[in-house]
Amino acid sequence: MEDQVVFSIIAPIFNELENLPILYQRITDVMNKASEPWELILIDDGSSDGSSELIKELASKDARVRPVIFARNFGHQIAVTAGLDYSRGKAVTIIDADMQDPPEVILDLIQKWREGYEVVYAVRAEREGETWFKTFTASLFYRFIFRITDIKIPLDTGDFRLMDRKVVNVMNTMREHHRFLRGMSAWVGFKQVGVSYKRAARFAGSTKYPFKKMLRLALTAITGFSYVPLQLATYLGFIAAGISIIAIPIVAVMRFTGSQSFFGQATTLVAVLFLGGVQLISLGILGEYIGRIYDEVKGRPLYIVSQSPADFENKNNTHQENK
Ligand code: UDP
Ligand code: MG
Repeated sequence: MEDQVVFSIIAPIFNELENLPILYQRITDVMNKASEPWELILIDDGSSDGSSELIKELASKDARVRPVIFARNFGHQIAVTAGLDYSRGKAVTIIDADMQDPPEVILDLIQKWREGYEVVYAVRAEREGETWFKTFTASLFYRFIFRITDIKIPLDTGDFRLMDRKVVNVMNTMREHHRFLRGMSAWVGFKQVGVSYKRAARFAGSTKYPFKKMLRLALTAITGFSYVPLQLATYLGFIAAGISIIAIPIVAVMRFTGSQSFFGQATTLVAVLFLGGVQLISLGILGEYIGRIYDEVKGRPLYIVSQSPADFENKNNTHQENK
């Protein structure tokens, strides 16, 4: 029976103890309406609040729950990646564990999938219970990414989406370490469509995406899908060279005609500081890309699992045999 899982639901968990029971309940209610076999993959991303224990407990009561327990915190995008790796369904849905993505929307996503779409992404038409700062920076970010990248990543769309097995198989061959999944799932192509939904407020707990992590994700998105920052140095270089070609003869003529306009060190200082700044920024941008190349070259695994669903199934079996 389990070999014919049709729907996989992936939820990354980082200290979501209070959200877990309601997540499980609502997913179960919704997925029972889909009337096909399903599985819920819960990835414990190094939680320290007892979420791991609760995940294991859920799994021991319900075989449809498949736990992936990480050895430490690897981050949201990596946790979702592990979920994709372990998923077996014909259609795979990624959802947040904090009830911000209402599980009921999954049925709308499934509906589109049945119509033949291979990626069905959920577009945030409205957001509830979020600071204006988060909404504003997020909106700015989506538009900026849209402008500077070649692939058209849908606006106001998070990771809440359904992907066909074909798409998941392609995504699973893309082992880049710095991952921006919504970009990757746009990059693969296939038949894509958006479904709009109202993003709810968090049910319990606080966000696990502080400003620093958001900034890191934004940098991953930019460096992963665009060369524009690298080309910035070239543009700035041409501008500086252009200015100097005009400025050098002017300064030379003024010097020979005895003008005092460029008397003193101030002018030199301004020019040196400006160029120094531009050069350091360009070097920093280079560093950002080189660091990422270094991470890829090391070829470390994306994540380390301390308990996989298989371990868990075996444990359940031995448990039964002992009885
Ligand atoms: N999450 C995770 N690892 C992390 C940070 C977050 O697995 O390092 C999970 C978190 O438990 C939640 C989802 O990713 O299920 C989205 O996180 P959150 O709701 O905090 O982000 P926000 O909605 O505030 O952007
Ligand atoms: Mg959230």
